[in-house]
Amino acid sequence: MSLDDLYKETILDHTREPRNKGELPEPDVATRGHNPLCGDEILLSLKFGSDGETVQEIAFSGRGCSISQASASMMTVGVKGGRLDAADSLGRNFKALMTGTGSGEGLSGNDDLEALQGVKRFPVRIKCALLPWTALDEAIETWRRASRPAMSRPLSASGDHPAAVS
Ligand code: ZN
Repeated sequence: MSLDDLYKETILDHTREPRNKGELPEPDVATRGHNPLCGDEILLSLKFGSDGETVQEIAFSGRGCSISQASASMMTVGVKGGRLDAADSLGRNFKALMTGTGSGEGLSGNDDLEALQGVKRFPVRIKCALLPWTALDEAIETWRRASRPAMSRPLSASGDHPAAVS
């Protein structure tokens, strides 16, 4: 199958049968992405693992062109159940592939994401493919900002010795 066919097939597959489509009832973080150039909208909702470092659940909803919706579906498959660091690196590698600064190495053999590079022939649609990843970056950043201060808070203030029992 040519790269072009693979590209069309992959997008069609995820458009017909989107994975992780919907909204989580009680997400830890929800973000919205909007691509005014094309009119794409993505709403991401995420739940994180109790260690704070894994994507336990992720769902997307939205409307827009098939590239944006298929890319969102592929992204949820790629990051669900994995560590935040891995999601970061997958996103970085995918962006590099789409913007022509990377070869697709580091996509952990994710064929669907690799096939999406067919979009590069339509530069105006690259933003559609990247939209869900931008929303994911925002969600992870929001989560880290919200969870870090609590994690680094000392268990007891320094110098707080238990009072001597007299
Ligand atoms: Zn679009």
